[in-house]
Amino acid sequence: MSEDKSLTTDMLIIGCGIAGASAALEAAKSGLRVIVITKNSKLEESNTYYAQGGIVSLGLDDHPGLLKEDIIKSGDGINNPGAVEILASEGKKVVDDILFKELKIPFTRSSPDSLDYAQEGGHSRRRILHIKDTTGKTIEERFIEALKKYSNVTLLADHTAVDLLTVPHHSKNPTFYYEEPQCIGAYVLDNQSGKVKRIFAHYTFLATGGCGTIYLYTSNPKGAIGDGYAMAYRAGARIVNMEYIQFHPTSLFHRDADGFLISETVRGEGARLKTKEGRTFMENYNEKKELAPRDEVTRAIYEEMINSNSSYVYLDLVSYAKFDIKKRFPNIYRTCLKYGIDITREPIPVVPAAHYCCGGVLVDGWGKSSLKGLFAVGEVSCTGVHGANRLASTSLLEGLVWGTRASKHIASHFNPAMSYKPSDIHKWYYPEKEEEVDPALISQDWISIRSTMWNYAGIIRTNKRLERARADLDYLRHRIEKFYKEARMDEKVVGLKHGIQVALLITYAALSNPVSLGAHYIQD
Ligand SMILES: Cc1cc2nc3c(=O)[nH]c(=O)nc-3n(C[C@H](O)[C@H](O)[C@H](O)COP(=O)(O)OP(=O)(O)OC[C@H]3O[C@@H](n4cnc5c(N)ncnc54)[C@H](O)[C@@H]3O)c2cc1C
Repeated sequence: MSEDKSLTTDMLIIGCGIAGASAALEAAKSGLRVIVITKNSKLEESNTYYAQGGIVSLGLDDHPGLLKEDIIKSGDGINNPGAVEILASEGKKVVDDILFKELKIPFTRSSPDSLDYAQEGGHSRRRILHIKDTTGKTIEERFIEALKKYSNVTLLADHTAVDLLTVPHHSKNPTFYYEEPQCIGAYVLDNQSGKVKRIFAHYTFLATGGCGTIYLYTSNPKGAIGDGYAMAYRAGARIVNMEYIQFHPTSLFHRDADGFLISETVRGEGARLKTKEGRTFMENYNEKKELAPRDEVTRAIYEEMINSNSSYVYLDLVSYAKFDIKKRFPNIYRTCLKYGIDITREPIPVVPAAHYCCGGVLVDGWGKSSLKGLFAVGEVSCTGVHGANRLASTSLLEGLVWGTRASKHIASHFNPAMSYKPSDIHKWYYPEKEEEVDPALISQDWISIRSTMWNYAGIIRTNKRLERARADLDYLRHRIEKFYKEARMDEKVVGLKHGIQVALLITYAALSNPVSLGAHYIQD
């Protein structure tokens, strides 16, 4: 079986969260032809959509130097100074120009004349703009609305990138081996038809977000399995800092809540962590108590859980709140209530959850990766802004700033980078006899990956645990690859292949770094 459908565009953007959407909007304004794909059937489904706390700008008594200091302190000093400078000095202007002026985002105000700046752990100032506790939802919806107005933008939902198209790897012509390796688009699965098409692009953007869902407990939605890291790795782009996986200290502990996040702003507004017996404990770990950096709060909770043989601790907001909880945290209030917890009357049971990947595809200040033609923006990239640990609420801003910068750069230096013809490049290969996929196998493989990552490559790592993870995951990878070659293509099979690759990337990175720093904590 073969297919002949292929598309050609100036920019292919894989992912439609804040990073992909802001890159698409900027490119659209400069008249470039853009195709944006997302593997979900809903355009808005992404980590961005679920962001609660807000987006960093600059507060009233604030300046870029203070923000820079906070970012570097949180990142344990291994941040890329140039990238931190870009974020701190350009961030506010991009927020003002795009979010306020262009998309007219209705950020929450404390009075008609002043914005309500929230505070989160690690920030020395109140500087986080929010729309109550559903910031990401509004931002994502406004971006999609804006993109739909451009005729030079094609939005394709239900399209899953399977692999990057690279030359010479996918070329038919042996003389291409003398050329510099280059990314020229992607093989993309149409989830509905089950067919893989080639989308050729002068510039290809990975904006595929993070990988929290390869862990058993995570705040991320189901789709966040790190597809972009896996595809970039297979294409030969440089990937760095994958051991720095940030765990969010507080997700709701409830059998059916699927990692629902209790935002850091809840602690910022005074809530305290307590053991099941009602004893506060953060003062024993850090003088900043509940506002200590995320990784320290996470390990403190983990330790208290182990010491008291408990599966959760409490986050007590009601004893400390001097405001109307329902008004300030309507989404958290409603969701907890759905699970039988009234946060205006009782403390919230919480556990840590995998939340953010500080590493990724190494890029420069314009989002350019080490592979010609390939850009990466947002969580899938590593600009170096976050160093060993991300400062809260800086990732939406990073996606917005780099998405915008990368497209501006391309628009002002546009030079059709791809000189290959579709006929030079292999079509997708389908096995002669495709096997029906048994969903039980996929589901069990995912359970193995997620449990292995949680137990052996999670919050507290040791060499023995990591070695065990490597052995188990390597074995699983062989089995998955064999299965992948024979299976009928669908997005679940593709996801599994990406997922096992990402689990191994994290495990190998953790094994090769014996130094505990930021979000990588190794005991031996
Ligand atoms: C619950 C929660 C709360 C958060 N709160 C905050 C906050 O308050 N402030 C903050 O700054 N950050 C927050 N974060 C982190 C932040 O949301 C993310 O880092 C950020 O949204 C990432 O944006 P992105 O555009 O890089 O990726 P995403 O928003 O995750 O978008 C990824 C896109 O890629 C698509 N995709 C993935 N793989 C493929 C594929 N193979 N083919 C096609 N499409 C694909 C997805 O469908 C999606 O469209 C939070 C995260 C979570 C999970």
